[in-house]
Amino acid sequence: MHDLLIIGSGPAGVSAALSASARDLDFLWFGQRSLSRKIERAGRIMNYPGLPAVTGAEMRDAFLRQIDGLGISILEERVNAVYEMGGSYTALVNDKMYEGKTVILATGVSGSREIPGESRLLGRGVSYCATCDGALYRGKRIAVVCTEPSLEREVEFLAGLAAGVLLCTSYQDCSINRDNVRHVVGYPTEILGENRATGIVCGGETAMVDGVFCLRSSVAPAALLPGLAAEGGHIQVDRLQRTNLPGCFAAGDCTGRPYQYVKAAGEGNVALHSAVDYLKAMERPAK
Ligand code: FAD
Repeated sequence: MHDLLIIGSGPAGVSAALSASARDLDFLWFGQRSLSRKIERAGRIMNYPGLPAVTGAEMRDAFLRQIDGLGISILEERVNAVYEMGGSYTALVNDKMYEGKTVILATGVSGSREIPGESRLLGRGVSYCATCDGALYRGKRIAVVCTEPSLEREVEFLAGLAAGVLLCTSYQDCSINRDNVRHVVGYPTEILGENRATGIVCGGETAMVDGVFCLRSSVAPAALLPGLAAEGGHIQVDRLQRTNLPGCFAAGDCTGRPYQYVKAAGEGNVALHSAVDYLKAMERPAK
């Protein structure tokens, strides 16, 4: 049981991790060493204090220098789901489980819009989790919608199970090269099916499939943590970054606009301090 789980490695997660280290918390931080595509892809950043006119890559390297200098490590794992269990939190990562007394969600928002038919057929042939649902499609035909290269490991995993994969990516350079994977560059315009997903329309063609996996950089908050209050796709928080679930805090784009580095970093710091206060209150014996 750790003090804290931090999920997400954009500026909000970086900021929370820096302060968690300063406060000597026993914490695990999930994300990726490249931190965030939304940092990497930025051209020139003019509004981050102390780093005037840096490129996205320069900002990422500056963050990494700071993290490495403090000996903070990132667990390069994707959290599939988080569950609140008896006052603590369990993060599921493939077949592993990690427990924390508190959790900070810093998962960002997905830039890609929902596909017509997606939420109607979610759980009925549409899935967000390769690990949870992949085995259901062993030997079947599936479509996989993948919005960023860092998710291709999950595509590989699915391709190892399914008979055939139609892979729809919203970017050109795809590293997957397997006989049973057909790659189309494009974002689907519809997922077909009445009571179950039966097909997908992408790049002007219609393909009949048994299931559709939508792999995005971040999933809708309520899909990640059941019971979490959200509105308009954003996690509801108060000024201390507290969510409706005790011990669960959220920071960055996932809590709403403006979508900016400095807002994300600021909220990550506030969330961390709220987590520290919560942990202290847990230690005090009840009167
Ligand atoms: P993100 O940066 O989105 O990071 C979230 C991270 O968490 C991602 O790496 C994601 O993969 C990871 N993650 C999500 N779910 C999980 C999970 N379940 N398990 C593990 N990891 C997970 N803002 C500015 O202020 N100035 C600018 O100049 C500017 N330029 C921009 C240019 C571009 C091209 C883009 C796309 C955005 C720009 N922004 C800019 C906006 C800025 O990028 C975002 O506001 C900021 O990155 C949000 O930080 P975040 O930490 O909330 O989330």
